[in-house]
Amino acid sequence: MKNKITKVIKDYTEGFLSLIYPQFCVICGNELNQQNDHFCFMCEQDLHYTYFEKYKDYTLADEVFWGRLNIESVYALLYYENGNSTKNILHQIKYKEGRSLGVLMGEMMGKKMKNMEEFKDIDALIPIPIHSKKSFIRGYNQSLLIAEGMSEVMEIPVLDALYRKTHDESQTKKSKEERLENVKGKFALKEGGLKNCNHVLIVDDVLTTGSTLEYAARAIYEKKVKAKVSLGTIALAH
Ligand SMILES: [Zn+2]
Repeated sequence: MKNKITKVIKDYTEGFLSLIYPQFCVICGNELNQQNDHFCFMCEQDLHYTYFEKYKDYTLADEVFWGRLNIESVYALLYYENGNSTKNILHQIKYKEGRSLGVLMGEMMGKKMKNMEEFKDIDALIPIPIHSKKSFIRGYNQSLLIAEGMSEVMEIPVLDALYRKTHDESQTKKSKEERLENVKGKFALKEGGLKNCNHVLIVDDVLTTGSTLEYAARAIYEKKVKAKVSLGTIALAH
């Protein structure tokens, strides 16, 4: 019995430590020499950076929203292509080592964005909310973790200002106007959610078609909030 308990404690401790100090590179799976590091040296050298912070003009990420709605600036840290390492990173954030990796990626993004003129006046970081069911199963929202990492570096607060509308809610709204408003999107702004904000940054893990981010930005514009809206994601699919 005593042995069994010792084994359980040992397994638990090892599991716990490997959460804090992942022992394998999240991209190639090779064992890491240094603790508290997610990437091996080779994979770190091979990250697919967009280098958008060096662009003087618009980027591929800005182009996604052209002709759709007015977005101040868009930043993405990495390019996502089928089969490249960014795909692994996004997968791991969602399903495996989400907590520490999500925060780390947020910090990496924050370091780049911190010195960019376009984002100098951001007042708040707003993570895209996930379904409460998913958050319950997974235990965390990856966009929130990314935002928390950015917040550390950029010294800008995270505001949980958006929520996902439930199916019920969209059915039971009273006025016709509200019903119409509801079909437009899947997010809504919390009451008083962006008080005193002049420029906010919506945060998500990946920018693909842009529809999720568009819904989120529209939820803010629909409330006639004066704030400018920018977007930041770990990856841009192209
Ligand atoms: Zn590696």
